Formats: sequence, C-alpha cells, structure tokens
Amino acid sequence: MDLTELFGVEGTLLAKLENESRTGSVKDRPVRWMVDDPRTDQAHTVVEASGGNTGISLAVAGRELGKRVIITMSRKMSPGKVRRMEEAGAEVVLCPCVGLDSPANFINVAQRLGAEEGVWYVDQFNNPANVAAHAEGTGPEILAQVGDGLDCFVAGAGTGGTLTGVGRALKRRRPGIEIVLADPVGSILAAHLRGEQVEGGPYLVEGIGGDFLPPLLDFDVLDGAYEIDDLESAAHLAVLREAGIRVGSSSGTAIGAALAYLRDNPGRTVCALLADAGDRYLETWQDEDWLTGHGLPVMLSHP
Ligand code: PMP
Repeated sequence: MDLTELFGVEGTLLAKLENESRTGSVKDRPVRWMVDDPRTDQAHTVVEASGGNTGISLAVAGRELGKRVIITMSRKMSPGKVRRMEEAGAEVVLCPCVGLDSPANFINVAQRLGAEEGVWYVDQFNNPANVAAHAEGTGPEILAQVGDGLDCFVAGAGTGGTLTGVGRALKRRRPGIEIVLADPVGSILAAHLRGEQVEGGPYLVEGIGGDFLPPLLDFDVLDGAYEIDDLESAAHLAVLREAGIRVGSSSGTAIGAALAYLRDNPGRTVCALLADAGDRYLETWQDEDWLTGHGLPVMLSHP
C-alpha cells in the first residue's frame, strides 16, 4: 500500500501489510515453515515462547494438527492476544517481565517445558525455518510487488527472522538496497549495531526490540537503525487509524523509522513492514482510555 500522501513525505513510502494474513500477523509465515517439520508429527505437544503473534498462529495450526499447544508469553503483552490463543485452544503461561538471566523469563520457561517427553519446543528465536520463511517468501514477494525501484526496507526485530530473511533476499537481487532496523527506545538492538553496549529500558511497543541479542538477527545485513519512542509510534498509529488502517504498535515504530530514513534520504523509495492487525490491541493500543492513561496521543495533527 502506498502511504506517501497520508504521511506527506518527500519520496515514496510503501507499506507491506501483514495485518490481513490469516491470523492477522506476519507470523503465519514462519509458523507454516516451522511446523512443517518431523518433530511436529513426533510430538503430542508443541511449546513456543512468543510475543503473542506466533502464539496465535501456532494455536490455530496446532488445533488443525490435533496437537496440544502451550504458549509462554510476557505479561507485558496485550490481553487480546491471550484471548485469541485461548479461543484457538492453546494454553497460555503468562510470565513476569524479567530478562533472560531469570528462570521465570518466558523463553526460559518454554525451554524447560520443551525438555519434557513428547514435547517439542519450536524455538522461533533459533529455528532456521523462521529465516527461511522470509528469505523464500516475504522477500521475493516484496520484490515482485515493488520491483526494482526499492531503495530501503524497514522492519522491527523480535526474533530477527523478518529482517534477516527479507534482508538477505533483497540484497541478493539488489546489492545496493538498505536494510534498516526500526527499534523502540529502550531496546538495545540499535545501540548494538552502533557498537555500543547499553542497558535496556522499559517501553510499551509489543513484539520488537529487547534486552538481549536475538540469535537469528544478522547484524551484518543491517545498514542502519532508527530508535522510535512509544509516543511517536502511537502518533503514527493514530494517523493510520484515521485512514482506516488498524495495525499494531510495532507498525507505528516501523513507520517512524521509515519516515526518519526519508528525512535523511529525501526522494527515495522505502517499504516498511506492518507486522500485525489492531484487533488484538482493542484494550490497549486501540483504546482511547488506555492511550490517554499512558500519556500517548489518541490523535495528532501530523507534521
Ligand atoms: N511486530 C510484531 C507485532 C511482532 O509480534 C513481531 C514478532 N515478535 C515482530 C514485529 C518482529 O518479527 P521478527 O520476529 O521476525 O523479528
């Protein structure tokens, strides 16, 4: 979708909309690739650590395959995600918002559950099928849709599967293309790319950034990063909402980074990946009271 006019940029701002996929997020792609694995057939239960979207997609896939699905997720994430996973028959284990050094961290809990007999921990943070789904699917799709005029691709990184897979696919076809990370203020990933070591801080945007380096994120594929705070992400979401495009919080961050790239590189063509739908954020990022209560803009006249 062309968002150039909506955001009034100098250049071309395109969005790759993943909110309209089957379960409403980009995660249908890696989930399809990851469950296509003999370990799925061999297990009675599949376990995954998720920011919610992989969990929703895996819950639906697991139900179809007749598997028990257990999803571990940090309490920070929207309750709408829990509801969707439970509606699809998955069990959700909510974990405290603590780092990887704590045994209570959602990834560590999934790892422990996955060590039990007959249980498979899908492990999107280390599963190469996650990257392959984007290198073979999302990346070539973007090239087919946008053609050779693309200068830059922008996305956030949770597992890093999207940026690594799409980045490699695009660079194979167009070596000069720039791959840019959209990182929330509070995440350590953008600082790491600059060669700095920083402590992570809190932020409200869901599904991207973090306080550890995701093993699948190939920093060599990245050409730059922009750090976007919650306030700016919410402002862009408000603009999209007014235009009838209801997407999740990480999409606001991706738009922020794409706009920053166009400010630095006027006239270029950039594609931002909008990773999920707004329907799972009805009590949070799509709710006026929640936004106001967190000091975030509901509507803003855009510059
Ligand atoms: N946006 C949202 C809303 C997500 O849930 C995720 C995945 N956690 C991403 C972006 C990032 O995708 P990836 O895991 O491929 O880096």
